Parts: sequence; C-alpha cells; structure tokens
Amino acid sequence: MSDRALDMADRVERFVLDIVAPYEKDPRRTSHGPKDELVTELKGLARQAGVLTPHILPDGSHLTQRETAAVLIRSGLSPLGPLACNTAAPDEGNMYLLGHVASPALKTQFLQPMIEGEKRSCFLMTEPAEDGGAGSDPSMMLTTCRPDGNHWVIDGRKTFITGADGAGVGIVMAKSDEGACMFLVDLPHPAIRIERVLDTIDSSMPGGHATVRIDNLRLPADQMLGESGEGFRYAQVRLSPARLSHCMRWLGACVRANEIATTYANRRMAFGKPLIDHEGVGFMLAENMIDLKQAELMIYWCADVLDTGTLGTAESSMAKVAVSEALMRVADRCVQMMGGRGVTEDTIVEQVFREIRAFRIYDGPTEVHKWSLAKKIKRDWKKRQTV
Ligand SMILES: Cc1cc2nc3c(=O)[nH]c(=O)nc-3n(C[C@H](O)[C@H](O)[C@H](O)COP(=O)(O)OP(=O)(O)OC[C@H]3O[C@@H](n4cnc5c(N)ncnc54)[C@H](O)[C@@H]3O)c2cc1C
Repeated sequence: MSDRALDMADRVERFVLDIVAPYEKDPRRTSHGPKDELVTELKGLARQAGVLTPHILPDGSHLTQRETAAVLIRSGLSPLGPLACNTAAPDEGNMYLLGHVASPALKTQFLQPMIEGEKRSCFLMTEPAEDGGAGSDPSMMLTTCRPDGNHWVIDGRKTFITGADGAGVGIVMAKSDEGACMFLVDLPHPAIRIERVLDTIDSSMPGGHATVRIDNLRLPADQMLGESGEGFRYAQVRLSPARLSHCMRWLGACVRANEIATTYANRRMAFGKPLIDHEGVGFMLAENMIDLKQAELMIYWCADVLDTGTLGTAESSMAKVAVSEALMRVADRCVQMMGGRGVTEDTIVEQVFREIRAFRIYDGPTEVHKWSLAKKIKRDWKKRQTV
C-alpha cells in the first residue's frame, strides 16, 4: 500500500470515528436517508479536515483501486461516513464514470461540482417491473431517446433511483435506434418528475429511492455522454469499480458493527460469565472474524485485477457475491449476539443489518452474478474442448 493511501486512510478513519460517528443519532436522519442539510454540514467538516473526496486527487486523477479500498473501507466505519467524505453511492460511481468518459466541457459543468461536494447525483437506469422495463436485464430498457435537430428527446419511467430527490446532476440511460445512450442533465428539471419516493428497508442514502417519469426531456446533443449506442459499454466501465466500492464501504460498516458486538459480548454477563465465554457466542465472533477477513481479501484481490486495466467483470461478480453474502452473515450474527439491543436503534448494528440486505440486490442480485458466472464457466469449458 502506498504511503499516500495509508496516510489518507488514517485521516479518514480518525475523522469518521471522532467527528462523524457522534452524528449517528442526529434527528435529521429520516427513513428516506439523511436530510441534505445534515449531509452539507458533514461535507463542510470533511472539507475542513482535508478528507472530502479523498479518492480523487487535486489534479483530477483517481487513486488506484487498491488505494481506494484502503480509504473507502475506513470511510464506511459509520453509515454517515461515505456521505461526509463524498465517497458514497451513487456519487462515487458517477464521478468515476464521468472521470473516464466525459468530455472536458462536461467534466467542468457536471463533474467538478460533484468532486467539490457541491452537488450530488443520481443514475437512472432501472425501470418499473410493472412496465416490463429494465431490471436485472438492462436490455429490456423501454426509455427511448431520439435525435431532433441538435437536440435529443427522451421519454420513459425509471425506478429505484437513489438520490433522485434532491440531486443536482442526473445520468439518464435510454435507447436510441443505435442502442443504449447516456445523457447528463441538470436537476431538478421540469421534464423529470418524481412520482414517489419508495419506502425501503434501508435508510442511508439521501433522497431515498424514487420512481420518476421522464416526459419529453429535450437535451442539447453535447449533453450526451460519449457516443450514441455505446451506453452499455460505458455502464461496464462504471460497473465493476462501483460494485467493489459498495463492498469496501459495507465492509467498513461491518467491521464497526462487529466491534460493537465484541464489546457487548465481553461486558454482558449471562449464567455467571461474559457472553464471549459461552461457546455459542465465541464461535459467532470467530466466524465473523473469518468472514470479515475473507471479504477484505476478496476486495483487495479484485482491486488488483481492476488495477491491471481490465474490466474485471467476472472477478467483480465473484467479489460482490462473496462479500455481500459474507457481510450479511456478519451483520446477522452481530444482531444475534446483542440480544434485544441488536434490533434497536441504540447502535448502528440494526441499520447495518438492514442496509446489507438491500446490498444483496442492487448492483446485480446474487443470483444474476452467479448466472453470469455460470455462463462464463460454460464458455470457458467449451473453449477448452476445441483446443
Ligand atoms: C436500495 C436500492 C438502490 C438502487 N439504486 C438504483 C439506482 O440508483 N439506479 C438504478 O438504475 N437502479 C437502482 N436500483 C435497482 C437495482 O439495480 C435493481 O433492483 C436490480 O438490478 C434488480 O432489478 P429488479 O429489482 O427489477 O429485479 P428483477 O429483475 O425483477 O429480478 C428479481 C429477482 O429475480 C432473480 N433473477 C433475475 N434474473 C435472474 C437470473 N438470470 N438468474 C437467476 N435469478 C435471477 C434475482 O433473485 C432477482 O433479485 C436500486 C435497487 C435497490 C434495492
């Protein structure tokens, strides 16, 4: 690990544990995520501490994935940490995408305010199941875009759009005759209307997750990201690093939840001795230790693969499944070890448990990753038969 990443990771850890964690009971947290007023205050504190957007350097370049892992795991030590440090989804993935694909003019207009923590963003891909639109299968996309002079016109409906309510930047995916396209749009926009913010199990992301209607959205042609028909290729650029950064942040959250459960198990007495001395509890802590280490190793292994410059599609699928499933087990054991306290909001353990449940679905449900890995296994096997 480089010195610059170790130094930043230490600073982020101190900031999150000392400055951000005391905000975990702030009343400006709602079931649809922390209010923007709270997020802005936390970002201001991160700016002062020199840990705002710590994974992007002043010259616009990005830390390596290995370095990013060291920093983002620490930012995840509180559910509010990624919001404070500007390493949260979907902004982190959106900044990565724009950094790699956007033109210099689009970077100035859309990316820079995101890096500076002035605007947050949303990524509009998924469509309502009731419409028969894109979900696990993005090729089912129904949202259309058509050229009209030097503009494009976009129509459709999107759902589960994290942070749409209150975002300043949107990345919209739509289909043209040439294939998928991506557009950048300033939000709020009169042609993009929030139908409703969904009530979901998780509560860490500002703005929650919204269903939106896009009605006759006219955008100048130069607000298309890259080329027409290349949208799915750009989505691939975002996909693996964004998946992996979810793993990083939630690993940090589970490390902290496990620390809270460990303290409880050492201090709480039952049947004449501390809980940890009962084998049933001690084994849960041992299993957590093993799952956490395996998750960490998968993250750094996948980060190293991405740092070679490959897309790492299969590796990030493997990491996403292994890490999200392992962290679900860890969070569940933390709740169990803490008894009734585990399901209260007295500690972050309860929230981490809820958040990880949703993580097994977004950025590709576990089964979809396994299905695509199985297709690769079949392809590779067939190749071996012909040589
Ligand atoms: C908290 C949260 C935040 C999200 N944020 C965003 C966002 O910001 N932007 C955005 O565009 N989308 C977002 N999403 C949407 C997310 O990407 C989709 O939920 C996901 O892609 C699955 O699509 P779906 O919900 O339509 O499930 P469906 O496609 O209906 O699939 C349902 C289930 O079927 C199973 N399944 C599907 N295909 C297969 C297969 N090939 N093999 C085996 N089993 C299969 C899986 O178990 C899957 O969970 C978010 C979702 C959640 C829960």
